[in-house]
Amino acid sequence: YRNEINRLDQLHLLGETAAGIAHEIRNPMTTVRGYLQIYQRKPDSPLSSHHMDLMIKELDRANHIITEFLSIARTHPGDQQRCDLNQLLEAMEPLLVTDAVQFSHQVIFNCQPIPQLLLNQKEIRQLLLNLVHNGFEAMAPGGRLIIATSATRSHVLLQVSDYGSGISPEHLKKLGTPFFTTKDKGTGLGLAICYSIAARHQANIEVQSSSQGTTFSVRFPRIR
Ligand code: ADP
Ligand code: MG
Repeated sequence: YRNEINRLDQLHLLGETAAGIAHEIRNPMTTVRGYLQIYQRKPDSPLSSHHMDLMIKELDRANHIITEFLSIARTHPGDQQRCDLNQLLEAMEPLLVTDAVQFSHQVIFNCQPIPQLLLNQKEIRQLLLNLVHNGFEAMAPGGRLIIATSATRSHVLLQVSDYGSGISPEHLKKLGTPFFTTKDKGTGLGLAICYSIAARHQANIEVQSSSQGTTFSVRFPRIR
């Protein structure tokens, strides 16, 4: 009986995912088709550069979404090397601070000594950017976002905390489902990518959220 439910859940997820992809691809197709049709009817009046820009933008977005989506489906761990997560964070600081300034936010680092980890650096940068970006977007201007690292005997923790408005229990359940978004221009792929990157690192992600804010904790296994 339980198996049946799981299978139904899986089918449901597949359906939602397919609907998400279809929506993201069909939208740009509709836009581009519309403009081409206008042009076809009036071949003498050239396509305005504004329309061309829009078409290119829409196609680029669709292409970007396909790339992101494929990265979620990947299971191969790729190139993982021993590295110092704190150093990686430090190297990203200028980028994160520049990003924060756009929102008038502040980024605070609270990094404790941690052992080296087996990481795919490119993926971990992506994971951090996605979590940080969500934190920025969740806060009113002038918010504070904290990036923290710490170690336990068995794990290394990377935590991203914001003082945003939090995530409702109903939405919490949907986190990581591809294309789940509550934002007008969101793709709903950011967290799905984080979960998939975490899985390739044998790491798990925990979320704690209240009306005071949200903390995402990524728990990496220590190298034995
Ligand atoms: P997107 O950012 O494009 O919407 P994500 O996968 O990154 O897609 O996030 C999915 C949804 O999860 C967001 O639309 C938002 O509702 C919720 N969410 C994620 N992170 C946070 C956060 N730090 N605070 C509040 N809500 C969040
Ligand atoms: Mg996001």
